[in-house]
Formats: sequence, structure tokens, C-alpha cells
Amino acid sequence: MQPVIQASANTQYYLNLEEKFGAHNYHPLPVVLSKGKGVFVWDVDNKRYYDFLSGYSAVNQGHCHPKIIDALIEQAQKLTLTSRAYYNNLLGEYEEFITGYFGYQKVLPMNTGVEAVETALKLCRKWAYQVKGIAENKAKIIVCNNNFHGRTLGVISFSSDPTATNNYGPFLPGYEPIPYNNLAALEKALQDKNVAAFLFEPIQGEAGVIIPDDGYYKGIRQLCDKYNILMVADEIQTGLSRTGRLLACDHEKVRPDILILGKALSGGTLPVSAVLADDEIMLTIKPGEHGSTYGGNPLACAVAMTALTVLKEEKMAANAEAMGEIFRNEMQKINSPFLRTVRGRGLMNAIEIEHSNREAAWELCLILKENGLLAKPTHGDKIRFTPPLVITEEQVKDCVNIIEKSLDALK
Ligand code: PLP
Repeated sequence: MQPVIQASANTQYYLNLEEKFGAHNYHPLPVVLSKGKGVFVWDVDNKRYYDFLSGYSAVNQGHCHPKIIDALIEQAQKLTLTSRAYYNNLLGEYEEFITGYFGYQKVLPMNTGVEAVETALKLCRKWAYQVKGIAENKAKIIVCNNNFHGRTLGVISFSSDPTATNNYGPFLPGYEPIPYNNLAALEKALQDKNVAAFLFEPIQGEAGVIIPDDGYYKGIRQLCDKYNILMVADEIQTGLSRTGRLLACDHEKVRPDILILGKALSGGTLPVSAVLADDEIMLTIKPGEHGSTYGGNPLACAVAMTALTVLKEEKMAANAEAMGEIFRNEMQKINSPFLRTVRGRGLMNAIEIEHSNREAAWELCLILKENGLLAKPTHGDKIRFTPPLVITEEQVKDCVNIIEKSLDALK
């Protein structure tokens, strides 16, 4: 069934503006949002929706969390940007705070997620030449098939998704992809003495919430130790309580050598990302060798400290774990021929749609929208369900009812 969606004149006005004046590099759901609070967002006609995407997990703390917004406003009235040409009174305090929070000796602050990934990759190469002793320009980084680490040329150089790479070549050398969740393939790849690092997502988000086998993180840790390779975890989407632990690697009590964070580090208010590592790795980069005008700005520092504080104060990891459990249990009870799989960890969940129509997942998202819940397909037949971590049991059950009703309407 093709849902007939009639946009209001109000909504259509904004859709037309973006169509006419914006680059067409996204394909959004036809909903125009103008307000958010906690798990909810409202459109320009004042219709309320559950947000089951949370800005791709940037809004873990809920939309417009009052403490984060207060920190933002308060700091915005004092000092927002100095650049790193000067010191500012918040960067050092933030650096002490975040390194203590995650247990690393140093942090390098950046803005977007992909910049933090690029930073981590640069650190791996510096470490390879200066510490490990790999011959100049020979360092290799092992990555996973179907990875998603962002959109710069450097990072798409090791993407296996043709949509991300088509007509963007030539690409950077120095990366070798292996299958995800495959320790034997990793061990084989690590035989090469020029390998510096292994970069991975603890759960592959964009690929459709692909959860590796138990023991994968521990296995990576052991292999990286055995072959003197840096274990680099991209926790931009899985980190900051999303999966029911502060970090997804915490599920196996594993500490990566380089930890990459972004998204919810600012609770969805401004781009704030970070790379954490110990001195042996971080101090390979010397003054002038890397940076960013906005990285470590005082506004970002104030917001990030509050965003991290709120995660712990409100026990969001525990809530994500409990609500994720309820969500998956309730979803399993749905009897629909179109629901092939429900999977997830904490509040990072996905369903797979079984349908003869290849557009069925998109159509289901349009029906969900009509029924008051926003979610977006990823890779065709999969839909990610990642609500803010402040969701309550009653709200989870309400959402499962909406999903069930929407699956019925797909018939
Ligand atoms: N790494 C992972 C695992 C991500 O999920 C994303 C974004 O979705 C990125 C990196 C890139 O982050 P950004 O879009 O902030 O550059």
C-alpha cells in the first residue's frame, strides 16, 4: 500500500525552500520540526511526535535538556571562542574532567565526529612511525566492511558503500578492509608488520545496528596486544550510554587505546567531538601539526561537561538498558508478516522489514510519522529505533503500539 501523505501548506512551504535553495544531499522525511523537549519533537503545525532517531544519537539526553541549555546560555553570554592561539579558562578544566571521566591521560578536542575520526587516524600514523617504528609512508590501518565513520574524503577512502564513494575518487591508500565480527580475519590481517591500528564500530550503526558476537571486543583487545596494534573504537554513535553502558566497549570491560566520541557529547546543541588516548600516542602530535579553529572552544567545553554530568546524574545508561529490554520484549510480541527481525542493545535497536516492495521500510516510516513517531530507514529494509535515553516505560509501550498499528497499516 502506498500511503497518501498530504503535506500541509505550512509544511510544504519549508519543503519547497529546501528543495529550491539547498543541496540535495539528503532525503528527509517530509516533516518540518520547530520544537523539541525530551523524547518529543513538534512540527510547524504543532503536531507532536516521538523522536526515534535522536539526531542519529546526538540527543541521547533528550531534546533541549534544561541543564545543558542553561550551561549553553550561561557560557554564551561570557565567552564563546578564543581559538587555540590563546588559552581559555574552560579548556583545561574540561580536559581534566573528560580524561578523568573516561580514564585516559589526554584528550584532543574537535567538533564533528568525522574530524575526530580523522584525528584518530592521524594519531595512528604518527604512532606507527614515531613509536612502533614502521617505515615511512608504509603504515596500514585495518577497517571493517560496511563501516561508517563519516563523510570526508579521507574517511570514505575506506568505505565499502558505493553511495558514499561513487565519483569521489581518487582515494587515500593505507587502509585494508576485513569482515566485521571476524577475529580470524583480524588475526590474519595483523600478521603484516606495517599494520598500525584496527578501527571499528563496537556496533555497526549505519549498517543497520549489527551487533557482534560476545567476546569480540575482548578478542580485539587480545590480538591488538599480541601484535602491538592500536585498538581504535569509534564510539561516536554507540558511546555515551546509548547501548546501556557508558561505552559499548564497557559491555566486555575492554579499554581501547584510542576512544573516539562525538554526537551526544554536546547533547545535540553544537558539534563537539573528542579523541582520548594516553601520552605515548597523544604526544606524538606536536604544536602546529593538527588542530581546528573551533576545537576546544569554551562554549563547547561548558556544554560537554554538563552533557556528560547529566548522563551520570540521571543514570541514563541504566535507563537505556532497562527500556531497551522492555522495547525488544514488547516488539517480539507483535505478530506481523512484515517484521522479520528485532535486534539491539540498550536503546540502539533496529527492525528489518520483510516485504515484496523494496520501498516498504520508507513507507512504514511515513505511516509511523502519521501515527506520531519519527524514524528513518537505513540501508533499504532496516529501520533504526534510537529514542532519547530519558524515555519512560509507559512511553516505550505507547511507541510499540504505534509501531504495531503502523505495521498493520502497511498491509
Ligand atoms: N562515526 C560513526 C560511528 C557515526 O555514526 C558517525 C555519524 O553518524 C560518524 C562517525 C560521523 O559523525 P559526524 O556526522 O558528526 O561527522
